[in-house]
This record gives sequence, C-alpha cells and structure tokens, in this order.
Amino acid sequence: MYIPDVELHESESLEHAAALLERFGEAARVLAGGTDVLVDLKTGRTNTAHLVSINRISSLRDVSLERAADGAITGLRIGALTTIRQLDSSSHLRERFAPLRDATREMASAQVRNLATVGGNIASAVPCADLPPILMVMRASLILWSQAGQREVMLEDFFVGPRRTILRSGELLVGIRVPTPPADFGAAYSRFSLREGNAIAVAGVAAALRLTHDGDISNARIALGAVAPTPTLVKAAGAAMCGRAADAETFEPAARAAMRAAAPISDVRGSAEYRRQLVGVLTNRALRRALERARASQERASSGGSELGRQL
Ligand SMILES: Cc1cc2nc3c(=O)[nH]c(=O)nc-3n(C[C@H](O)[C@H](O)[C@H](O)COP(=O)(O)OP(=O)(O)OC[C@H]3O[C@@H](n4cnc5c(N)ncnc54)[C@H](O)[C@@H]3O)c2cc1C
Repeated sequence: MYIPDVELHESESLEHAAALLERFGEAARVLAGGTDVLVDLKTGRTNTAHLVSINRISSLRDVSLERAADGAITGLRIGALTTIRQLDSSSHLRERFAPLRDATREMASAQVRNLATVGGNIASAVPCADLPPILMVMRASLILWSQAGQREVMLEDFFVGPRRTILRSGELLVGIRVPTPPADFGAAYSRFSLREGNAIAVAGVAAALRLTHDGDISNARIALGAVAPTPTLVKAAGAAMCGRAADAETFEPAARAAMRAAAPISDVRGSAEYRRQLVGVLTNRALRRALERARASQERASSGGSELGRQL
C-alpha cells in the first residue's frame, strides 16, 4: 500500500498554516505526527490532496504549568504538538496530573508514541483514542485558534461524530488546558486491548472522584472510549454518585449506568455485547483506582506534604 500523490506544505507559523488551510479548504488536512493521517491516506479512508504540516511551529510543542498572580499553579498547558512520549516523561505530570499517564503509558508502541501528538490524538476524533476520556474527567478544555481569533471549549463539547469535530475551516487545535485538580480529587483510566503492546483499546473508561472530609463522594465523572461514536462523558453516571458513600454499593449502579450509556459496535476486536460488559468491569476498576488516589491525595494534603505545593 502506497501513499497517493499529495502535496506537502510546511507552515512556518499559525498564520501561515491557517492561510493554507483556508486556501485549500476541504482538500487539505493538518499533518502533525502523521500516525493517523498517513495511515488514512494509505488505506484510502481520506483522499486529501494537500497536507499542511505544523511541525515547524515549535511554540506548540511544550508542556508547562499555568500560574495565578500569587504563583499558585492553576493548571497544566499542553501544546498540541507535544508528543505522547514528551507528555509521559514531563516532570509536570507528577502527583495531581499523574492520571494522564494511565493513557500515555498504555497507548500504541514506543515508536508511535515518539511521533504521535496529543493534539492529533484529540483532533483525529477517533472513538478509541486514549487521551480524551481521562482528559474529559479531568475537565480539560481545548484552545482553538484561527485568523478570526481564539476560543476555548470544553473537551466534552468538541466531538460531533466519528472523525468529526467542531473545528471550523482554517481553525487549529493549539493547546489543551487541564485545571489543577483539588486535593480531594483522584482520577484513573482503565482500558482493555487484545494484547499488551501496540493495540488500540477495545474499551476504555476514565473515572474521577472528589471526596468530602468524611470520605463521601462530592463530585464524580465517568467518560468512555471505544464504545460509542465519539469519546463520551456519561453525565448521569457521575451525577448518580454525588453525596453517596465511596464504596462498591455506589460504584456498581454507576457501572451499570455507564453500560447503558455505551453504544458499542461489533468488529474484529469484539462484539457489542462483549464491549458493554467490559464497560462495567472497567468502570468499577477505574473508580476503585480513582478512590485510592483521592484518598492518598487527601492524606498528603492533610499532612502538608503536597508535591505540587513544593513546586511553587
Ligand atoms: C500502530 C499504531 C498504533 C496506535 N495505537 C494507538 C493507541 O493505542 N491509542 C490511541 O489513542 N491511538 C493510537 N494510534 C493512533 C495515533 O497514533 C494517535 O491518535 C496519535 O495521537 C495521532 O496523532 P498524530 O500527531 O500522529 O496525528 P496526525 O496523524 O498528524 O493527525 C490526526 C488527525 O488530526 C488532525 N490534526 C492533527 N493535529 C491537529 C491540530 N493541532 N489541529 C487541528 N487538526 C489536527 C489531522 O489533520 C488528522 O485529521 C495508533 C496508531 C498507529 C499507527
């Protein structure tokens, strides 16, 4: 299988990339790491005539902490061109942002992770992409840029269908913002694939919990991957846990709500029914791990030993 004739345009700046994208319209696609788009070209899933590479825009390849005027860390900013490997090895992914590593460690192979970008993983809008579920439960937002200006949208509002997003013509995903989770927060992502290395998820579930002082659940979020046309935040499953004890009796109905919300397909990796069962198992697993992390984070905060605090 060969890549068909396609014209490659190297853009030197956001303005240049946007101008090229506007000029070629539907006939152009952004090229980041190329691990999705080049496969799509080879397999004929896309017949794009122009690839607009953004790889020379080095300002998009950065992971940094955002701070308030008093120096407090308010969030993590991930440039869209940051590779999965770069994110995984970032020193900023300690403690409260560490749940992102549940996804970055599991996905693809070392070779693919060296090329694949965070922005590409989101903008490809593939249902089985690993980063969107964990980013959604961590309340991530996306920074979208075009010549007309910049806008910020919640990740859960970004996808409109398989491989379809709200990105407008000439608009680029430039960054991802993850707000600093509070000390009573824990999150986790659990995925299932048919082998350990270099296999996409058959199903994936991310969960996040916030705890009260008494250890009950004050807030919860659950998001699914690979079991619906888009990565999906299951608001009902999270809302049903609020105000309840953080235990199996609360987790089980949430897992059933997640199973009901899933709309999986049958394919070579598994039947729809198998995927739905996986959602139940993975939801329980992600919730238990999120709970352990929330409790550990609460303990660290109460003993005054927050790693994030020491970074200030
Ligand atoms: C062997 C193999 C295994 C894989 N395993 C996994 C896996 O386990 N988990 C997983 O989640 N993925 C997996 N993938 C898919 C892929 O590697 C990821 O989705 C990757 O993060 C895509 O990023 P990229 O930079 O390569 O995107 P590209 O291929 O460059 O682009 C993907 C799409 O997003 C658009 N795009 C990219 N960046 C931007 C931007 N900044 N603004 C607007 N549009 C943009 C492109 O136009 C294109 O439509 C695998 C791929 C391969 C080849």
